[in-house]
Amino acid sequence: MKLASVLAGVTGVCLWASIASAQPLPARWDELTASDWPKALEMSGGTAILPIGILEKHGPHAPIGSDLIQVREWAARATKQEYAVVFPDYFYGQIYEAKHQPGAFALPSRLVWELLEATCDEIARNGFKKIVIINGHGGNPNFLHFFIQAQLEKRRDYVVYLYDPVADPSVTEQMNKIRKSDAATDQHAGERETSVLMYLRPELVKKDLATSQSGKNEARDPLPELYTGIWWYASYPNHYAGDGSVATKELGQLVTEQRIASIVKALKTIKADTKTPALQKEYFDKVLK
Ligand SMILES: [Zn+2]
Repeated sequence: MKLASVLAGVTGVCLWASIASAQPLPARWDELTASDWPKALEMSGGTAILPIGILEKHGPHAPIGSDLIQVREWAARATKQEYAVVFPDYFYGQIYEAKHQPGAFALPSRLVWELLEATCDEIARNGFKKIVIINGHGGNPNFLHFFIQAQLEKRRDYVVYLYDPVADPSVTEQMNKIRKSDAATDQHAGERETSVLMYLRPELVKKDLATSQSGKNEARDPLPELYTGIWWYASYPNHYAGDGSVATKELGQLVTEQRIASIVKALKTIKADTKTPALQKEYFDKVLK
């Protein structure tokens, strides 16, 4: 080989290497290469986000994957400001109250639990010892709180954090200035959620269909002071709670920007957190055998 072509080859390799290193590191687990792993672990502080959505009817007008779309977008935008690795699409959870409507994907409850536990085990086995669940589905919190508490069932070398923010009163005040429907009745696929979808994915929202079914509370829960699994269906048989027809992009932008800022703050806190892993270890060391 002539010297010139050797040099050209070396230069080409160097040029290629510098182009590759100039590329921003993707946040998505499925977009990283295996060779990116050490860098991803370092930049994330061993922190991975598990965004959890669900597949369920969202009134007559919003997409089945509304919750998944929202949590994935929040994670994607937040990790541009504070790096963490984002696990791929995950849409398995508690959704037994929507099986009478098209699009619901409701796996057996034991499988939902085992799948989440095995997913966290596998994320941790890959080096991410801090796992942040960002939940987008209103039917999941009871399940997820129990799942988090059950992290103490047996020794683990990782911590699962549930992003569980309280509403910021100043943002609530700003929202109330521009919202058109009553906040107390605005829930599933209502003004707030439809607004967020209109901001994130306007092409997926069929707003003109939003009044084709009722999102009013039918108040048919026969024993409201006792908890039964039928309470949601009794109240909202159309799997729609609120009024999506009055949604606006403006409200969606406000909600989204507040949420992303809040997730960025939570990520910084979690990445800096040394107390929770230490306390968890101290606890497991003391558990009687
Ligand atoms: Zn939703």
